[in-house]
Amino acid sequence: MNVYDSSQIARMLALSGYEVTPFMEQADLIFLNTCSIREKAEQKVYSFLGRLARLKRKNGDLIIAAGGCVAQQEGSKMLQRMPHLDLVVGTHAYHRLPWMIQKIESKKCRIVDVELAETIDEEEPFINPAKGGEDNGVTNFVTIMRGCDNFCAYCVVPYVRGREISRDPANIIQEVKMLVSNGVREVTLLGQNVNSFGKKEGKALFPELLSRLNEIKGLLRIRFTTSHPKDLSNDLINAFGKLNKLCHHIHLPVQSGSDRILSLMNRKYSRRQYIKKILKLRRVCPDIAITTDIIVGFPGETSDDFKQTLDLIQEVSYDNWFAFKYSDRPQTRAIKLTDKLSEDVKADRLQQVLEKQKKQTFLKNQTLIGTTQTVLVEGTSKREKNRPSKIDCHKVQWSGRTSTNRIVNFLTDNGAGLEDSIFPGALVSVRINEAYANSLFGSAMSVIQDKVELKGENSNAA
Ligand code: SAH
Ligand code: SF4
Repeated sequence: MNVYDSSQIARMLALSGYEVTPFMEQADLIFLNTCSIREKAEQKVYSFLGRLARLKRKNGDLIIAAGGCVAQQEGSKMLQRMPHLDLVVGTHAYHRLPWMIQKIESKKCRIVDVELAETIDEEEPFINPAKGGEDNGVTNFVTIMRGCDNFCAYCVVPYVRGREISRDPANIIQEVKMLVSNGVREVTLLGQNVNSFGKKEGKALFPELLSRLNEIKGLLRIRFTTSHPKDLSNDLINAFGKLNKLCHHIHLPVQSGSDRILSLMNRKYSRRQYIKKILKLRRVCPDIAITTDIIVGFPGETSDDFKQTLDLIQEVSYDNWFAFKYSDRPQTRAIKLTDKLSEDVKADRLQQVLEKQKKQTFLKNQTLIGTTQTVLVEGTSKREKNRPSKIDCHKVQWSGRTSTNRIVNFLTDNGAGLEDSIFPGALVSVRINEAYANSLFGSAMSVIQDKVELKGENSNAA
C-alpha cells in the first residue's frame, strides 16, 4: 500500500515540476513516506529525518516533507521535533500537495495538513491515477477502499487512515480497463479489509466487484489484499472456484492461534471458525496458497497461548507467513494492557516462528520440483539486472509469478525455440527444476498466451 501511495505522491509532485532522482544529495525536495504500524518503523523515520539536517544546512532551499502514517499520527509534533522539516502531509491530503509545495516555495513557510476526509472524492487525481504503483508495466496496484473500522486492539491503522470508505465500483472498473489498455495484465486490489468492500455504500459487494473485473478482456490475473477472516464470506470463497482470473492465493492474517488472545485482540473470530474457512477454501480451490500474519508476544500471551499459535501454523500448513513482535502503538486499546512481555521473550518467540517459516516455505517449494507452472512474466530476473554487461550473456533470465504468488526465474534453454517469444506480460508454461526458500527456478516449455488483442475493447476506458 505504501508503494502505491509513494507512486501517487510522486505523481502529485510531478504536477509541481519535480521529477524523481536516484541522487538524494542533489535533490531539491525530499519526501519521506512513513509507516507507523510498529514502533521500530516510526523510530527509523525520526533517525532518517535527523540525518537530513546536514543536507538542509548545505542547501537552504531544499524542501523536506514527511507523509504517510507517522505524519498523520504526529502532525505538528513532527515539525517541533525536526526544525529542518518543512511539510507534514497526512494520509488523506496528498491531492493538495501541488498547492502546499507552491506555498512553501514562494513563502518559505512550514505546513501541516493532517485532515481526515469522510468521503472519497473520485475526482481527486490521487484516487484516479493514470499509472499505478509498480514499474514493470505488467502488474499494478489499485486501491479500492481506504481506512478501517475494525479497531483490532493492537492496531494503529484506524487512527491514521480514518474510517473505512469504498470507492465506486464503476470507477474501479474504468480504472482497471484503462490500465489494461496501457499494457497491465495483473491487478492487485488494495484495502485494509477488502472483504467488507461496498458494505456501507451498498453498490456492489466484493465478490460482485471481482466477477465484474473478471470480465475485462486483456486482464489475465486478479489478486487482492488484505482479507479479514471474520468477513470472508461463502460467496468470496466460491469465487476462487468460479473466476478464472482470480489468482489461487489468499493472505488471511490469523495473528494468533489462541482463542483467549484472539478475543483480547478484538479479532471477532475463533480458531475453530478460522480453520473452518481454510477447509472450505481448500475444498473449493485445492491448490490455493494460503499465507498469514502472526503477532507474537501480545500482552498476556502465555507460553501455552504461544504453543497454540505454533500448533495452528502446523495445522493450517501455510505456504508462507509474516511474523511480528507485538509493539505498543499510540491510541490503541492494547497499549493500556498491563501484562506486557519482555523484549527477550518476544524475541525468542519471533525467532521460533521465523525458523519454522523458513523450513516450511522451503519444503513447500521443494514439492513443486518437476511440476509445470503457469507464470505471468514481469520482466528479467534480479540477477539479470545486476549483470555488468549484456554482451556476454547467452540467455536472458526471465522472472514472473505463479498464480499462487511464487516467484519463478527461468531460462529458455530447453531447445523449445522460445527465445524471441517471451516478453513481460506473456503467460508462459515453466517446468520447475530447482526450489529455494523464496523462489523457484525453471525452464520455459511453451508460451500459453502472448499478445492480447484489445481492438474495440475497453474503449470507454480513456
Ligand atoms: N489490515 C490488515 C493488516 C494491516 S497491518 C489485516 O487486518 O490483516 C499488517 C500486519 O501488521 C497485521 O496483520 C499485524 O500482524 C501486524 N501488526 C499490526 N499492528 C501491530 C503491532 N502493534 N505490533 C506488531 N504487529 C502489528
Ligand atoms: Fe488493523 Fe485490524 Fe484494521 Fe487490519 S483489520 S488494519 S489489523 S484494525
